[in-house]
Order: sequence, then structure tokens, then C-alpha cells
Amino acid sequence: MKDITAEFCALDLERFAFFFDFDGTLAEIAPRPQDVVLSPGLRRDLGQLYLRTRGAVAIITGRQSSELVSLVGPDLPVAGLHGMDFPDAAPTPDRIVAARVAAIRSLLPDLARLIADHPGALLEDKRQGFALHWRGAPEAEAALTHAAQEALARLGDGWSLQPGKSVIEIRPAGDDKGTALRRFLTLPAFRGRRPIAFGDDLNDLPMLASAQAAGGIAVAMGEVPLAADLRLAGPEALAAWLNERLAA
Ligand SMILES: [Mg+2]
Repeated sequence: MKDITAEFCALDLERFAFFFDFDGTLAEIAPRPQDVVLSPGLRRDLGQLYLRTRGAVAIITGRQSSELVSLVGPDLPVAGLHGMDFPDAAPTPDRIVAARVAAIRSLLPDLARLIADHPGALLEDKRQGFALHWRGAPEAEAALTHAAQEALARLGDGWSLQPGKSVIEIRPAGDDKGTALRRFLTLPAFRGRRPIAFGDDLNDLPMLASAQAAGGIAVAMGEVPLAADLRLAGPEALAAWLNERLAA
């Protein structure tokens, strides 16, 4: 591990670009994704950080970016669906999206029946993908993992399987959170800054690795075994750190 603790504690907001995962990083995970909230203090500080860095802040999430507007506000740039849904990017052609949505829809009835057999488990329809959550039904892990693997086999090429904490997800192959970070770094507000990225789960690995490869800092949340330069205990610790940086 690089000795960057001191630098982290006195981080120069002028020189860095900030990248945050949302669930488990900025906000505590809740049993259902729709129950997650961002603390008002952290929301305010993210707005401050956005102003102080003149826009060098982005959220890179597995959620659809539209879901985050009500949680973080309309100003912060959000890359959704693990980077596939990138702000101002040329949109994926309609016919490709339609084909993906149709492919996922064809799987949903079987998945819904499976979920009904496991009270507490959850099917999240992401339109161009889906996630199976077992936080509320830990005994369902094996069955849901198996179902996701079967779905991947049925879908064929062009899709990938993304495991996470108490969740497994199917999404279009290609972009990941690492490509999203690299794309942000080419935008005027981010260009020339060192990236610092914060993530808590396996799907954040490409983002953390991209930050390090660009000469930046990777910060992991909690105990998940991610290769990172530093660790914070969780969203509360991150909020306290950011609040301190803004007050400095
Ligand atoms: Mg997360």
C-alpha cells in the first residue's frame, strides 16, 4: 500500500476529481434499493464539493441514472448502469435498446416466480438488465445465483454477469465503471485532475483500478476485499472526511 494517508487527510480539492459509487458508499444499503436515502448533510456537502471543484465530481452507479436525481439532486453528473448510461454520450440506438429490453422482459416472468418462492428476495428490473437481491432472504443465494447464470446462458453473447454484495446482476457487456471514470477524465471539468474514487463492492473494482492507473487514489469502503490505497468504514466516515475537507 502506498503511504498516502497524510495526503488523503489534507486532500487538495483543486487538484482532484471525485468519483463516488452510490449504494454502500455515499448511502447506507437498505433492504430494498428504493428505501435508500442520502443524509441531508452529505447531500449538501456534495453540492459544495461540486462548486469548489468547479464540477469535478461524478457518481458512477449500477442504478439507472434517472433514479439518482431525487437522491443527489439534478446537478451532479451521474453515469448509470455501471457506465453504460453516460451523460451526454451518443445514446445507444433505439433498436439495440429495444432488443435488450425485449430479451430481459422475456425472462422476467420466470424470475418473478422464483422470487415469489423466496420471501424477502427481490427482483429489480433495470430494463436493459436485472438484479436479484437476497439481502432479505440469505438462504436464496444459491438459487438466485443459479437463476442468473441460467439467464446469462439463455441470453447468449453481449451480456455479462455482475456479482455483488447480496446481489447478482445481468447487464449488457462492454462498459464498466472503469470506462466511465476514464470518459469523465476527458471532459473539461475533469481534465488534468487526479482522480480519487470511492467504492464498496466488486463492481467498483474497474473504477478503483482506473483511478489508480491514472495516477489517482482508490478508496474502499468497509471490509470488502478490494485492492485499494485506503479504507473508510462506510458512508458515515466518508461524510465526516468530506465535511472536514470542505471546512479546511
Ligand atoms: Mg456500492
